Amino acid sequence: MRWDRDYVAQAAGRNGMIAGFNVFGYEDAQAVIHAAQRADREVLLMINREASKSLELEHWAALLNSMARKAQVPVGIHLDHCSDPEMIFRAIDAGFTSVMYDGSALPLEENMANTCRICEKAHRHQVYVEAELGQVPYDELGETRIRMTSPEEAEVFSRETQSDWLAVSVGNVHRLLGRKVKIRFDVLKEIENVCRMPLVIHGASGVEQQDFPLLCASRVGKINVGTALRRVFGETLRREVKEHPEIYDRQALMKKPVAGVEETAYQIIKNQCGTPIMVRRKAL
Ligand SMILES: [Zn+2]
Repeated sequence: MRWDRDYVAQAAGRNGMIAGFNVFGYEDAQAVIHAAQRADREVLLMINREASKSLELEHWAALLNSMARKAQVPVGIHLDHCSDPEMIFRAIDAGFTSVMYDGSALPLEENMANTCRICEKAHRHQVYVEAELGQVPYDELGETRIRMTSPEEAEVFSRETQSDWLAVSVGNVHRLLGRKVKIRFDVLKEIENVCRMPLVIHGASGVEQQDFPLLCASRVGKINVGTALRRVFGETLRREVKEHPEIYDRQALMKKPVAGVEETAYQIIKNQCGTPIMVRRKAL
């Protein structure tokens, strides 16, 4: 089904969140769609920097959109963390349903000016825009400094741009393995009080389970999940290769890793994303 409205805003207002999953091929994309169908939820397939280097955005959009059309729940195609406006324009033309402009490393004024330019084109094509303020560090790059989102900047950003969603840094960390972090709900609340936009939490794989009901109850409308799926995929594939040296067929080797991705995505949607929005089932 088409991603035909702002499901992230709806989720933010209804004690729920939309899960966005990073995918790297048709196998995990299909697994995520199956998980969303089992859970009867909307879902976002996200293309990150690495994925956009391995295949052109136009190919990703054509592939994932054709898969989304066959799905029984709304499936959106999202460009994750892109700091190049020209590439974002390409994604919009190619048929992505939402894009993230990451100008978080720039001074506020520049981040806002670029976000405005992107919103203008995106909104003409019914494409939603996610922006970022503050910086969510990458654990695997050894980044330890968390630059929290400033509520003052969020207030200005909310007033001066037309961005649909805002990614915030409130204690969350990208690509965490082996440990969890606590969300700073005090900072999140301050941001919510001054900002009209639904908020987005990146690095959800590293968030403690007990924080999810609180995130659902807040104005967070989307969580980004990468590591949980990459991990189950990588670990299962490694085991399959080791246990079955006689198998050369890629699809045979992929069976279990893909099943693991589906189950993990399903559990995340069911256990971490709160109350479902009423999805309209495709007429069979
Ligand atoms: Zn991110």
